[in-house]
Amino acid sequence: MHSLLFRNARIFDGTSADCAEGQWLRVADGVIQEVCDTPLAAPEGTLVVDCGGRTLMPGLIDCHVHAFASDVAVARIDAMGEAYRTAHAVRMLGHALDCGFTTVRDIGGGNHSLWRALADGLVRGPRYLYAGKILSMTGGHGDFRPIEEPARYGALCGCAGSGGNMFAVIADGVDAVIRATREELRQGAHCIKIMGSGGVASPTDPIWMNQYREDEIRAIVNECVERRTYVSAHCHPASAVRRCAEFGVRSIEHGTLIDDDTAHFVAERGAFIVPTMAIIFALVEQGRALGFPPQSQAKVEQVFEQAISGLDAMRRAGVKLCYGTDLLGKTYTDQCREFTLRARVFTPLELLRQATSTAAEMLMMAGQIGCIAPGAQADLLLVDGDPLADIGLLAADGRHLHAIVRGGELVKLAPD
Ligand code: ZN
Ligand code: ZN
Repeated sequence: MHSLLFRNARIFDGTSADCAEGQWLRVADGVIQEVCDTPLAAPEGTLVVDCGGRTLMPGLIDCHVHAFASDVAVARIDAMGEAYRTAHAVRMLGHALDCGFTTVRDIGGGNHSLWRALADGLVRGPRYLYAGKILSMTGGHGDFRPIEEPARYGALCGCAGSGGNMFAVIADGVDAVIRATREELRQGAHCIKIMGSGGVASPTDPIWMNQYREDEIRAIVNECVERRTYVSAHCHPASAVRRCAEFGVRSIEHGTLIDDDTAHFVAERGAFIVPTMAIIFALVEQGRALGFPPQSQAKVEQVFEQAISGLDAMRRAGVKLCYGTDLLGKTYTDQCREFTLRARVFTPLELLRQATSTAAEMLMMAGQIGCIAPGAQADLLLVDGDPLADIGLLAADGRHLHAIVRGGELVKLAPD
């Protein structure tokens, strides 16, 4: 852990458009100790970084990744084996950190073992939060069995071997979903993810379908409330977004087919949406070449049509939005592109909040990450220029990041 002193910084604090100039900021023990406009002393052993008026801002947060998704075809990932998937995770997490992402939330397939490897420094990467396995109903978006596969009624509890895979557990009925929730929380999951609607990659469910019953969703939400955490739900159609928000889901993933009424409802409920433009655009452009299954390719092209207008509906309604990408396989290199794609609808200030303070609030970590304030984790980026004027500075795979600090650790410092 480094003791660091930044001087002559312009600071974007994660929220306010008014960036104070000529600031001093001191980091020790992984935490921001002081921020002020008068010179701070540098205790012995402190590395002093002259910011030269560059913008110092909180590290970025990607709220929707899958570290182990080593291919675009989910059915192929299971067959690749654990070593291959882990190698992919190591590569994508290192790339994320180099792009300025100091926190990622693995919202399906992550586990304690990878968390431990990162925490112990075996692997370079961002702060790592994970949802564990995603809960899906039989025939839902987490059920990847081909239509030809016969049913296995012997395993009705669903928790083992009836269509689950490394990303999802199949659980049907209130008792089974409660048990699956408790199992994932027991294994350290930071939140619980459910499949709230049909999806693109799964073979047998239409995308417009609402998944899970009200009593099942409410039971999962209750378990999470008792654990002082929250539920995230994969939802494409407006109807699924609405009912999940109504039943207490905090983090809606995708929200691609949302309409104005539903966007207003979500805003009133105070729920968050994590759109994922990066994967939708990547699959439309490269899906065929990368071997994305044809039935899924048709589905992604269908949601693509509405993706950008959905973003605009969320903006008009004032929904709290978070940065997310959902990239699979080789498309992991598109992680910064989400900024560029969303820039068709949002201002740089709105985009910066989505990737810092609003994301932190959704993660129930406001004041700890996504902000620059005394007592917050020292997750910092020093940007060459003003990202509030040019969001492209954050969309260049880290090329315009002069320095990157994660948890007080100086990950990158470019020569002056
Ligand atoms: Zn999803
Ligand atoms: Zn996803």
